[in-house]
Amino acid sequence: MKFRSIKGTKDILPDESGTWQAVERTIRDVMHVFNYKEIRTPVFEETALFARGIGELTDIVGKEMYTFDDRGGTSLTLKPEMTASVIRAYIQHQLGEQQPLTKVYYIAPMFRQERPQAGRLRQFHQFGAEAIGGQQPAIDAEIVALCVEVYRQLEIDNVELRINSVGCETCRPVYKEKLKKFLRPRLDDLSEESKRRFDQNPLRILDSKDEDDRALTKGAPLLIDHLCEICGAHFNGVMRALKSLGIAFEIDGRIVRGLDYYTKTAFELIGKELGSQDALVGGGRYDLLVKELGGKQTPAVGFAAGIERLLMVLGKQKKRVGAVVRPTVFIVAADNSSRDHALREAAVLRRAGVSCEIDLLERSLKSQMREADRQRAENVIVLGEREIQSNEVAVKNMQTGEERRIALSQLIDFFTKPR
Ligand code: AMP
Repeated sequence: MKFRSIKGTKDILPDESGTWQAVERTIRDVMHVFNYKEIRTPVFEETALFARGIGELTDIVGKEMYTFDDRGGTSLTLKPEMTASVIRAYIQHQLGEQQPLTKVYYIAPMFRQERPQAGRLRQFHQFGAEAIGGQQPAIDAEIVALCVEVYRQLEIDNVELRINSVGCETCRPVYKEKLKKFLRPRLDDLSEESKRRFDQNPLRILDSKDEDDRALTKGAPLLIDHLCEICGAHFNGVMRALKSLGIAFEIDGRIVRGLDYYTKTAFELIGKELGSQDALVGGGRYDLLVKELGGKQTPAVGFAAGIERLLMVLGKQKKRVGAVVRPTVFIVAADNSSRDHALREAAVLRRAGVSCEIDLLERSLKSQMREADRQRAENVIVLGEREIQSNEVAVKNMQTGEERRIALSQLIDFFTKPR
C-alpha cells in the first residue's frame, strides 16, 4: 500500500522549515513590538461555535467545514478560522476583566474543504491578531499597521492595502434596500451564485469574481457613500490615523466581509503578483460578535493572513528569508578506535551550545568527509590517534580552507567566543 498526504495538504520538508521558522520569528517579533500576546486554542471546537460565529450563510459554514461527530455524539469541527475560537476563549476566561483592551495574536493551522488550487489548500496556516474591547479608530489603524509591518519587515513589496467600511445595523439595512433596488432589474443576468445571494447577502454580490457580475454591478451604489454619521466619522478617523502612521491605502467600496457581525472597517492586503487568489490578508471590525457568542457587548477588530500565500509572494519576488540550517562543526573520526572520542568531543561541544555533527553510520573517512560537505558544515575536525595523543586538532574552515591548530581544551572557546 502506498500512503500519500491528503489532497490539499502539504508537508513542510526539512529544507523548507528554516524559511517557515524565519517568517514565524518575524511575526512574533512584530507582535511583541506592538505588545500583542500569543493565544493558542484547540484545533477543534463545537460546530455550533462556528455556525454562530462565522454565520450559517457563509461558504465556510455552508460547505467547507471539516465536521464530524466524536464517539460521544458531539458535533466537532476543525478550526476553519481563528476569530470565533479567540472570542470563545475571551468570553470563557473573562479576559476582558483583566484589562480593558485585550491584544492577542496567533499562528495556527486552519482547515477548509475547498477545491484545492494554487493558493487554496485544505490545511493552511494563518497568523493574525485581535484587539478586543475598544471602538476607537486608532485601534483599527493599529491592527492595520501591525499587519503591514510584518510584510514590510520581510521586504515584500508589490502589496496594496485596500480599505472600506461596511457600516452598522443603522446604515447597512437602509443601504441594502438601495442596492437591491439597483440589482433587481439585473437579477436574471447575474451568476447563479449571485442570484442566491440576492435575498440573504446582497453585499457579497459586489465582490463576486465573475466577470459578467462585475460588469453588471458597475455603477452600483456603494455603502461607503451611504454611511450613517457615526460610521462615517469612524472611517474618517481610521483614514486620518493611517495617514499619520504613513501607511498608504486605497479606498475600495467593494470589499465586504460578508457577515452581519462585521461592522465599520473592512480591509484587505492584496499581493499584486498572486493572480486570482490574491488576498494576503483579510481583516476588519466586528463589534457584534462577542455579544453574538454570549458575551457582553464588546467592540473588536482583527485580521487573518495566509502564511502559504505570504511564502508564495516571497518566492515570486525571489526573496530568501532564514539562513540555511547547518552544523557549525562536523567531527570526522579518522578510524574506528577514535569514534568514542569523537562522540565525547561532540557531547562536550553540544552541551556548550555548539551545533555539532558526527558520523553515526560508521562510514569510512572519505565518505564522512563527503557527508560534512553535503551538510555544508562550517568547519571540519578530523580526530584520530595523533590528535588524541597530542590533545590538539586541526579545525578546517570549509569556506576559506584555512586550518587552525587548536587544543581540545580550547575548542569550546574557539567556537563560542567572538574572534
Ligand atoms: P479569510 O479568513 O477567508 O478572510 O482568509 C484570510 C487569509 O487566509 C486569506 O487572505 C488567505 O491569505 C488565507 N487563506 C484563506 N483560505 C485559504 C486557503 N484555503 N488556502 C490557503 N490560504 C487561505
